[in-house]
Amino acid sequence: MRSVETLVGGEWVAPGEWIDVQNPADLRTPAFRVPALAPADVTRAYDHAERGFARWKRTGPLGRATVLTRAAALLRERAADIAVDIVTENGKTWAEAHGEALKAADFLEYYGLLVGRGGYGTLLNDARPDTRTSAQQEPLGVVLAITPWNDPLITPARKLAPALAAGNAAVLKPATETPLSGLHLARALHDAGLPAGVLNVVTGRTAQISEALLGDERIAAVTFTGSNTVGDALRTAFATRNIRFQGELGGKNASVVLADADLAKAARTVAAASFGQAGQRCTATSRVVVERAVAEEFTRLLLDEVAGIRPGPPLEEGTGVGPLSSARQRDSVVGHIEGAVKQGAKVLAGGDVPTAGELAHGCYVNPTVLGDVTAEHAIWREEVFGPVLALRVVDSLDEAIAAVNDSDFGLAAAVFTRDLHAAHRFADEAECGQIAVNLTTPGWDVHHPFGGFHDSGSPFKEQGTEALHFYTRVKTVAIHFGG
Ligand code: NAD
Repeated sequence: MRSVETLVGGEWVAPGEWIDVQNPADLRTPAFRVPALAPADVTRAYDHAERGFARWKRTGPLGRATVLTRAAALLRERAADIAVDIVTENGKTWAEAHGEALKAADFLEYYGLLVGRGGYGTLLNDARPDTRTSAQQEPLGVVLAITPWNDPLITPARKLAPALAAGNAAVLKPATETPLSGLHLARALHDAGLPAGVLNVVTGRTAQISEALLGDERIAAVTFTGSNTVGDALRTAFATRNIRFQGELGGKNASVVLADADLAKAARTVAAASFGQAGQRCTATSRVVVERAVAEEFTRLLLDEVAGIRPGPPLEEGTGVGPLSSARQRDSVVGHIEGAVKQGAKVLAGGDVPTAGELAHGCYVNPTVLGDVTAEHAIWREEVFGPVLALRVVDSLDEAIAAVNDSDFGLAAAVFTRDLHAAHRFADEAECGQIAVNLTTPGWDVHHPFGGFHDSGSPFKEQGTEALHFYTRVKTVAIHFGG
């Protein structure tokens, strides 16, 4: 079995025990192993980060940009190999994983250029004579980044690129299920010349290291992507310590299909948004709201699309959807489907687990469409995070907007229509951080501000120039240069 060391203090280390990483396409034998750090190793990671920060802050934006853009080039060079490892630990298809590696490179390049070549701070008028005043952004210190398994490379890149570009040091805690992708990112940055200690990766068993990870007094900010259960607990704990917290949490994203829409395009786009990456994108469409006049025709077109999405081994040509990321995730998704059926939903496609041949050894769930769903059903409200789509029929745009907003979450929503008025009303009134018109709910680029409303997020957005607000603080400096 391949053993992959982790990066602490500029060294690749394996201080003690190891922890196995499974391949969700075949659970028979573990795929890799990574170090299971002990609490004392985590504290050492913070020691290094503290020293790394002092050095990295002085490196300046142009020097930092050189490292980030070099790391971006390395990720692109290595993308094909990295993609195989992402597939192996996560289960998404090779094309999805390769796209992820390239997008991670885009994050590093974008923030390198933005911070390195862009302006930094603002000159302000000052009433005092011979006085030049500026507001300048400076880094915070040591940032803790905690990331989930669904986009195991992009999510760390989305956080570390702006954090490091702004001059912070970081401790990354990747998901236990998918540590290797984050280690590829760390390797690219290390090989590109990132000074020792600026990035440290803490792998291991969450319960064992959580106290040392979360309790360290040197944490200046915490950026977290993951479940609401964990996110809410972290938000509360860090608020009492006056530590800045960014949370990207759950979603229950809806696509609305109005009667005047191009139905074939809507069906194709919704199917891609729902079943791409086995529905394990935070922005995946998991609810469809369709106007009654076209409900039957749209459902038929959608089911035709779904019938063409073949579950299969993620490295195999022609596979439309790979396994879910773990047996726990598969069982949870199956539980949601069974619960929906018990409450009266009708299975229009899928609803079960493929058991033939190789697929019997993996964590597969067939792409599932559920009809006859009502606002009272749990499947309408609870995040499933799998290849499951719930359909609800409404009678007007007003009802459709109300149905979209009838959720604790507010991450992404889409509307399919040819009516400009309806499109603008939807964009104004849907209570989500990302709104798409005649497009998929996922698919946001590195320079698009990204983040959810309500229980999906926190006041701090990710991506684009917005992300730098989270990773910097503002200092106002007045300099009198007269005699
Ligand atoms: P999770 O909350 O179980 O875990 C996320 C991370 O937190 C993992 O690294 C995990 O090891 C760590 N963690 C959990 N408990 C911890 C503790 N006590 N101390 C320290 N670290 C701890 O989430 P998950 O199952 O990995 O990911 C799926 C969730 O992520 C879904 O709810 C999904 O919606 C959400 N997500 C949101 C976005 C977004 O941008 N809004 C993006 C992707 C995923």
